[in-house]
Amino acid sequence: MIAMRMLIDGEFIESSSKETIGIKNPATGEFIDSVPLGNSDDVGRAVDAAEKAFDDWSAMVPRERGKILFKAAQIVRERARGLAEILTSEQGKPYKEARDEVLGFANVLEYYNGISASLQGGFVPLASDRYCMVLKQPVGVCGAIIPWNVPAILMGWKVGPALVTGNTMVLKPSSTSPLTDLSLASILTEAGLPKGVLNVVTGHGQAVGEPLVTNSKVRKISFTGSTETGMRIKELTSGSLKRITLELGGSDPMIVCDDVDIDTAVEGAVRGRFYNCGQTCTAVKRLFVFESIAEEYIRKLSSRISGLKVGNGMNKDVDIGPLNNYDQREKMISQMKRVRENNEGIVVTGGKIPEGPQYDNGFFYTPTLVRDVIKDSVLLKEEVFGPILPVVVVKDLDEAIELANDTRYGLGASVWTRDIKKATYATARLQSGIVWINQHTKAPADVPFGGIKDSGLGRENGLDSLYEYQEIKTVMVNV
Ligand code: NAD
Repeated sequence: MIAMRMLIDGEFIESSSKETIGIKNPATGEFIDSVPLGNSDDVGRAVDAAEKAFDDWSAMVPRERGKILFKAAQIVRERARGLAEILTSEQGKPYKEARDEVLGFANVLEYYNGISASLQGGFVPLASDRYCMVLKQPVGVCGAIIPWNVPAILMGWKVGPALVTGNTMVLKPSSTSPLTDLSLASILTEAGLPKGVLNVVTGHGQAVGEPLVTNSKVRKISFTGSTETGMRIKELTSGSLKRITLELGGSDPMIVCDDVDIDTAVEGAVRGRFYNCGQTCTAVKRLFVFESIAEEYIRKLSSRISGLKVGNGMNKDVDIGPLNNYDQREKMISQMKRVRENNEGIVVTGGKIPEGPQYDNGFFYTPTLVRDVIKDSVLLKEEVFGPILPVVVVKDLDEAIELANDTRYGLGASVWTRDIKKATYATARLQSGIVWINQHTKAPADVPFGGIKDSGLGRENGLDSLYEYQEIKTVMVNV
């Protein structure tokens, strides 16, 4: 236990309350560390520090800002092993996934360093003695709130575009996975980030998140988390014209057509659903397979899923770690209880807590496949944020699309086919912010990411993310 502290104005400090939150390893139930239990005073101090740092930071040449991000990325790469161990021990994901995520954070910072060299505005020629300049200016102090499922990557998705465009930031990590984010913030400081440019306040949603959202000096909120909390943030900001970006829940459909290579589409579903123990916003959460291949597909899928090894993510041979926290596993137990009580589908494999002493103190759940799921099942209507895959057999593409769109969510969707006509037809009709063809969940830093319907507002990543962090100032010149 090293008792990590929060970062305000360049200093790692305790909360004014002096209270802390214990951080549990979800695989063993042991407390591995603690962080300050932040409050509204801490948020106020962090916002003031970010406001004070804004003038100098925003006046810097973008390339100089980019260089600091790049240096931080280099340090992250050098320390990837230790950072990945921290991530696995607080979040639960297998070490290999944690290492990929930490390197992904470095990759995001490198991407924004690359962009820094070409940040520019516009010029509109008018009459011979008149012209217009279009300036792109930072918004000001930004608040970022992130969940526990991919804490490193999501921190990069917010810090990268915000800082490179000259904004300063106060970030609130999840209360169950703040250690990786604090470690990354410390590396950014070591790389030369001036004090106050990035502040990290740890604590709970209501005590830290709400004062951050409602602080009048915070000009923009970038939130990633559940749709319910996203709605609350929209409500809290409704009395102001503060900008908000909301990256929310999803219930992504995967459509498997009858012309696919079955083994490839099985692997796609296994990775798409069970990566990070199913706790990914763009995981495959509903699978629709054509009836002509359904029996072979489900048999192969079931065999792969039942062979996945569940355990402590620090063990090399483990495919799936625990769920991140007690409540998350309780949700899986409750959703499967309703499936069984209401005969909402046939459980092909899994659907229980694994047995054995190694599972006694962690939040483990067996990878689960449920077939012939009925239209109104909880597994199709609610977001299932864990290792449960519901499968529905469909007669054709139209039926698959209709069922795929029958949800409040609209984050991602995938179509698996070798027929470009089917892929094009489905892409035009699927109601989602992202459509993948023959893949699922991939989200590199250079392509826009975000949802429609109840999955969100605005975009992260790619050049589109810059607009979320910049104001346009039109300058009309009469010479
Ligand atoms: P959550 O909404 O419970 O919490 C997310 C963050 O918001 C946490 O830091 C939490 O402390 C904070 N928070 C909670 N209540 C708040 C409030 N009233 N005001 C301000 N902040 C508050 O979500 P979670 O359970 O941590 O994460 C899982 C959810 O996140 C899933 O729904 C998942 O789909 C979604 N998610 C979406 C994306 C995306 O990019 N669309 C990415 C990852 C996760």
